[in-house]
Amino acid sequence: MQKNPSWLMIAFSAMMLLFTYSCNNNSKTMNAEYKVPAFDPSGIDSTAKPCDDFDQFANGNWKKHNPIPSTEGAWGAFNVLDKETREVKIKGIVKELLDVKDLKKRSDAQLITGYYRSYMDTVTIEERGISPIMPMVEKINATKNVSDLIALAGDLAKYDVGGPFMIYVKADDRNSKMNTIFMGQGGLSLGDRNYYENKDSAMVKIRAEFIYHVDKMFAMTGWKVADPGKTILGFETKLALIQLKNFEMRDPVKLYNKISFTELQKLAPGINWADYYKNYGLRADTVVVWNKDYLKNLNLLVKQTPLEMLKTYYLWHVLSGFAGGLPDQFSKESFHFFNTIMYGVKKQRPREERAIMSVNRRLGMPLGKLFAAKYFPESSKKKVTGMIENVRSVYGERIEKLTWMSAVTKAKAKKKLSQFTWKIGYPDKWKDYSSIDIQPDKLIENMMNITLWENNDMIAKAGKPVDKSEWMMSPQTINAYNNSTSNEIVFPAAILQPPFFNPDADDAINYGSIISVIGHEMTHGFDDQGAQYDGEGNLSNWWAPEDAKNFTALGERMKIYFNSFEVTKGFKIDGKLTLGENIADLGGLTLGYYALVKSMEGKKAPEPIDGFTWKQRFFLGWAQVWHENITNESLINQVQTNEHSPGRWRINATLAQMKEFSDAFGCKGKMAVADADRVVIW
Ligand SMILES: [Zn+2]
Repeated sequence: MQKNPSWLMIAFSAMMLLFTYSCNNNSKTMNAEYKVPAFDPSGIDSTAKPCDDFDQFANGNWKKHNPIPSTEGAWGAFNVLDKETREVKIKGIVKELLDVKDLKKRSDAQLITGYYRSYMDTVTIEERGISPIMPMVEKINATKNVSDLIALAGDLAKYDVGGPFMIYVKADDRNSKMNTIFMGQGGLSLGDRNYYENKDSAMVKIRAEFIYHVDKMFAMTGWKVADPGKTILGFETKLALIQLKNFEMRDPVKLYNKISFTELQKLAPGINWADYYKNYGLRADTVVVWNKDYLKNLNLLVKQTPLEMLKTYYLWHVLSGFAGGLPDQFSKESFHFFNTIMYGVKKQRPREERAIMSVNRRLGMPLGKLFAAKYFPESSKKKVTGMIENVRSVYGERIEKLTWMSAVTKAKAKKKLSQFTWKIGYPDKWKDYSSIDIQPDKLIENMMNITLWENNDMIAKAGKPVDKSEWMMSPQTINAYNNSTSNEIVFPAAILQPPFFNPDADDAINYGSIISVIGHEMTHGFDDQGAQYDGEGNLSNWWAPEDAKNFTALGERMKIYFNSFEVTKGFKIDGKLTLGENIADLGGLTLGYYALVKSMEGKKAPEPIDGFTWKQRFFLGWAQVWHENITNESLINQVQTNEHSPGRWRINATLAQMKEFSDAFGCKGKMAVADADRVVIW
């Protein structure tokens, strides 16, 4: 989950998603004959008032009757659909393949079934113990000095063993047609700097539990390491304190510092870059670093840290990184800390479910190819294309009417809008995975071989033109994204299902869900980050100074507004961290609403359904997408690390800003924002 993101997640840390969920998930089997209701009125809590608390009104009964399953940290539309996609569709595909005899070695089907079998072969996993990670461990123990250890770290990085620098290759933000190498920060077991420095008692407790967890994991290996828990937390805290804070990582101009290899060596001369690069397989004269000061400070930190401590740090990241593939005692202990303590998840999922999740995560594209062929109706592509064009034309009209933007900047914004591209469903081309060796009795090696393949595939792109047809998400992912350097929005097949897109629903519901989601992704091209890129996907300022000033001032008001929401005792939404997403939600909903109004022009208003007008149903559509129950731990994690506001506030805080919502429900209630205080950006 969070601690070992795949290279895709790393490389596109700047990619703007619709949603980020902690990977945790029970559900009913989908019956092909069953029609999902457009909006299920039984979810409504009619004792609540829509203008006081719309989330409670629209979703109160749903929340009451859909408690969080013990294997989950949160339970909402995304989780339900994700679980159903995996446990019914993906599992069905895997099970069918398992029945096929004599699969061709290295075919997609053999990779999938081989990996799945290796995950399910618990007898072998227990027998082999920690022996599969011992080659890495022995190499770490054998290093005689820091220089050797850094050289080895370059080798370990190819297997996603965490370390202080995170290397990835993606489109150059200032030359978006070419791929270049980036170097960011990383290597924190707890994921975010906040977990190391926040003084709230909930965080203090997590840090104490972390020490206990690390000690326990080391004790199970039998390795002789003194005080590993304190050592790791101590070193990672020092590392965290020299890293950028999460909201600072949202500034693409600040993060873009292209330097030569010579300059890199000068910034951190105590780090053996030459051998790190060589072992990672990197060859390049330049690198874009996020933060030069970090490299200087890291150089100092490495110098001040005894070699034994640095070795313990790498041993820990090997052990923790592969814990999911080790014998049960390791996987259980890792689950206890990273899921129960961090996210409030009570029970580990059954092994079979974890096996499906793991194969889906590690071989997402080979599985996705089969998923798309079986479950994606080609007719959806045409429908969604029409919706995107519809939103784009409404966006153009909205830009034209803006009172805070001059004609010069409007023309440039419309040019960028006209250059938007999109992808729907699944990739046109599939990669060749036949060089990956997968064996049915070697789980850890399988994990390593897949990661190695992915990293090599990524590194090979450095200095080469960007392949614009590439997808950063598998087709079976319930999500969507906006990629700034391609000026594109992408909708995988799996999000085009109810409640996001429901072919049987009335228009108002679909406009409040999938069309507003499309609007959300499009607005990312014009949020505080995206607006810094032009239509070609390059970081370049196309704004007239006065307009940029007005835009920043509107963003500032959004920050202050969202900062005011306390989601649980002692934890508020971070308006700076969530600004881009909040702008995208407000923009997306506004676009969805006016696209619906436009589609109704010249038509007779439809009769109310379940007692709600079409305008009211639009907002119910949105509320249904974001209904969610969430553990306190997951909520704390979300507001401290995640760029998305929690579901309840994506509904209430966003709708309260909209006059259109107030008008639809005749609001004078607690949620309503005074007209003078409303922020209208797009
Ligand atoms: Zn988003």
